[in-house]
Amino acid sequence: MPELPEVESVRKSLTSALIGQKLIKFKILDKRIGRFNSRTPVLGSKLISINRKGKVIFLDFLSFSIAIHLGMTGRVMLNAKPNKFTHVILDFEKDKVNYQDVRKFGFIKVVNKIELKQYLLNLGPDSLNLKYLEKLEIIENSKRKKQNIKKFLLDQKNISGIGNIYCNEILYLSKIHPDTKVSNMSENEWKLIFNNIKKVLNSAIKNNGTTLEDLSYFLPNGEYGKNQNFLKIYQKDKCNFCKSKVDKIYIDKRATYICGKCQKLIN
Ligand SMILES: [Zn+2]
Repeated sequence: MPELPEVESVRKSLTSALIGQKLIKFKILDKRIGRFNSRTPVLGSKLISINRKGKVIFLDFLSFSIAIHLGMTGRVMLNAKPNKFTHVILDFEKDKVNYQDVRKFGFIKVVNKIELKQYLLNLGPDSLNLKYLEKLEIIENSKRKKQNIKKFLLDQKNISGIGNIYCNEILYLSKIHPDTKVSNMSENEWKLIFNNIKKVLNSAIKNNGTTLEDLSYFLPNGEYGKNQNFLKIYQKDKCNFCKSKVDKIYIDKRATYICGKCQKLIN
C-alpha cells in the first residue's frame, strides 16, 4: 500500500510534469464504485501547485483542488494507455494523466477551498517534517490513548503518512516493541521514534519508494521504486543488529516483524 514516501515520489514526479498546465478534460469512467464525488472541476483552470498531506495528494487550482488517495493499489500514470483498471482520466494541455486502481480502495474527490481546509484538519500532522509543536501535540495526545504504539502511528488522525511497512521499520530502528502502550512511553522513546520517522521516510523518498513483489506500486512514468532493497526488518528473517531470528506476528491483522531480543516489551 502506498505510504508517504511513495505518495511523495508520485507528487514530485507529477509536479515536474504538470505545473502551469491547464486541465482540459476530467472524466470518471467507473461511477458505480462510489469513490468519486459529484463536484466537477472548472475546465481550463491552470494547475498552480501539487501538495501532499500524509498519504493524500492535492492538485491545487485557483478555486478548487483535486484530492487523490491511492488506497491499496492506486496509481497515477503519465501519458500511459488507459486500461480496464483506469477509473479517472485527467487530461492537461500537454500531458495525459490516468488513475488506475485494481482493488478500488483509493479515491479522487474534487473539493472547494472550504472542504479542502476541513479535509486537511481531519488529518494529523504530516510525518515528514514534524515541527517542534506538532511533536509536543503528538506526545500530549498519546497520553490519553489506550492504543499500542503501532496502532497509534498507523492512525492518520494522530500523525499522517505512515503505513504498515514504514511503521515496522521505524519501531525496529527505535528498538521499541510495537505492542508497547503508547500512554507509558518516555520522552526518550518518542525522541527515538521522531528521529527514525525522519530517517526512514527520507531515505525511502530518496529511493523513490518501495515496490514489493506484487509490483503494484510504480512512479507515473512506469519506473519501480528501489527502497525494497534497503528495508531493515519488513519481510526479513534475521535481525540486522543481533542476528536473532525475526518473528512475524499480527497486530490488528497487520503483518508485524519484530526482533524479540532488540524490541523487548517493557510495559
Ligand atoms: Zn535483534
